[in-house]
Amino acid sequence: MPIDPEFKSKREQVDTHEGHPVWGPVNPPEQLGIHGNAVAVDFDICIADGACIDACPVGVFEWFETPGHPASDKKADPTNEDQCIFCLACETVCPVEAIKVFVE
Ligand code: SF4
Repeated sequence: MPIDPEFKSKREQVDTHEGHPVWGPVNPPEQLGIHGNAVAVDFDICIADGACIDACPVGVFEWFETPGHPASDKKADPTNEDQCIFCLACETVCPVEAIKVFVE
């Protein structure tokens, strides 16, 4: 199931990480929520394919280790989301549709 594009109205921000919000529910290591604001990655969907990291022209994503998560043991974290130029390449290439970009 892809990331819910309306998650911001359905979930609560429960934490911050690397300067971006984390949207719950979060119950590590099995449940990690959604990371990001302008560029949001559903960590519970991400399979660490890496296509977004290869596609992003400005280096928004960095790997974040998540040992014990059932989908993958690392996630594409939108650490540099403030650099996003809203090209939507990451949304397009993600094989599991884990990313939602909020175009400004
Ligand atoms: S929309 Fe483009 S610039 Fe922004 S994070 Fe995705 S690939 Fe990178």
